[in-house]
Amino acid sequence: MATSGEPAVGIDLGTTFSVVAHLDAQGRPCTIPSSEGDLLTPSAVFFDGVTPVVGKEALKAAAIEPDRVARFAKRDMGNDHYSRPIGGELLPPEVIQSFILQKLKEDARLKLGHFEKCVITVPAFFNEPRRKATQDAGALAGLDVIDIINEPTAAAIAFGVQEGFLSAKGEARKTERILVYDLGGGTFDVTLMEIEGSSYNAVATAGDVFLGGIDWDQRLVDYLAAQFVAKHPSADPRQDPAGCQRLLREAEDAKRSLSAREQTTITFEFGGHGVRVPVTRGQFEQMTADLVERTRFTVRNVLEEAGLTWQQVTRVILVGGSTRLPMIQQMLEQEWGRPVDRSLSVDEAVAHGAAIYAGVLLGGGDGAREKVTVRNVNSHDLGILGVERTTGRPRNKVMIPRNSQLPATKKNRFKTYRHNQSDVVIKIVEGGDASGQNSTAIGKCIVRDLPPGLPAGTPVEVTFTYAENGRLKVRAHLPSVGRETHLTIERASGMSADALAKWDRRLKSGGALTLESSGASK
Ligand code: ADP
Ligand code: MG
Repeated sequence: MATSGEPAVGIDLGTTFSVVAHLDAQGRPCTIPSSEGDLLTPSAVFFDGVTPVVGKEALKAAAIEPDRVARFAKRDMGNDHYSRPIGGELLPPEVIQSFILQKLKEDARLKLGHFEKCVITVPAFFNEPRRKATQDAGALAGLDVIDIINEPTAAAIAFGVQEGFLSAKGEARKTERILVYDLGGGTFDVTLMEIEGSSYNAVATAGDVFLGGIDWDQRLVDYLAAQFVAKHPSADPRQDPAGCQRLLREAEDAKRSLSAREQTTITFEFGGHGVRVPVTRGQFEQMTADLVERTRFTVRNVLEEAGLTWQQVTRVILVGGSTRLPMIQQMLEQEWGRPVDRSLSVDEAVAHGAAIYAGVLLGGGDGAREKVTVRNVNSHDLGILGVERTTGRPRNKVMIPRNSQLPATKKNRFKTYRHNQSDVVIKIVEGGDASGQNSTAIGKCIVRDLPPGLPAGTPVEVTFTYAENGRLKVRAHLPSVGRETHLTIERASGMSADALAKWDRRLKSGGALTLESSGASK
């Protein structure tokens, strides 16, 4: 229980559903229902008129006016814009996410009264720019984001608390090695965590930003549409945006039924024609077998990176709505040879863990929890894009390999390339292959105004310090010249401070939403 008097609030800002939770007077995490009375709020924003509509209503609107509804904006975090224009305007994903956060904040305030501080969760594989974008979305929503925490870590904390790993006495039990398998609506994330008493340490993590329940839905959409067109060749619902949305809704419904039942019948009407399509669970599992295999592959990779075998895993916990698919549980039990743990609420665990973590950060607590420590690993290689001296080709020198325990520090020596260089530019990249292909530029560190006549091959020492919170500091030092620069990363993507301030003003004045009116855009 937080003694500071401030509520401990945790937010799971999901790709498809978001959840807000707090700690009750006994320090137990509880989900705060939305003003509509639901535990989950669909991460959908309908832009119509001045006040955007968030959640359930926005989803309904998607079936009628799909081009005015933004969904899955989390996938675009770190990019400049949401995937398509809304009401004629390209919006930064941060702005869309901020509307969702604002709704969660307002709904939570109905129960908790005024608060601003909260912890927001992000997928473990979110890179630097995406983390920063999440924090910016919080700021735009008028929240004070005291920290962001990785979703699997949050789930593991919720699990640890539930299992009494953190009893009031704080006694450490044996080390648990937990595989957190999180399959949500649009993303997949698997992380191996070690829990020792109140230390939560990530060992290895991997994921897929483009794999989730939506892909399972899409297979059913294709099947349903094919059946429809076979019967009514004159009308194809896939050619119509509203038809697509309705196909998707029917498909998702059917998918959920098939988690509970062996078969279901989908009815679908479009353009004055209707079909009834029976589907069995077996058929559905066949249609989506490759998707399950993709997750199996990632799970095996994570174990390999952690240097562990299945025998060393003590628990497998399931997080995310899509883990209700029976095929997921079956696959994991087949891999592990033991039953997976289904005791956590797959929908709420992440928000609950975030609320517990907020309680830890806000101080107070029941003794044992105060000691909670979290150690992360970085999910992408961090390196420097340089030039191979002999070939002149680009080369990605990895400084901090992925899955390194944070904080991590690494120093490397480089050399200037040309004679008489007036400055040295250090390009910092995340991910990518040995030649820097597919890497994300995350910033530059520049040592300027070097003395004239500097010989080629002058040593440049570069130090990377990657902090616990996923923020990176870079120092470049030319010992022979006595010059150095420290970098607070000039972000190559995401919103600049100026853009953020501009949007902040616009949102506060309500002017963000004077988009074209509904009728005009159609
Ligand atoms: P995210 O973290 O991406 O926001 P969630 O963890 O809330 O997502 O999971 C949402 C996904 O779970 C959706 O794709 C939804 O269709 C799926 N889902 C929810 N319930 C079921 C169910 N009973 N069977 C299969 N999938 C389900
Ligand atoms: Mg989630």
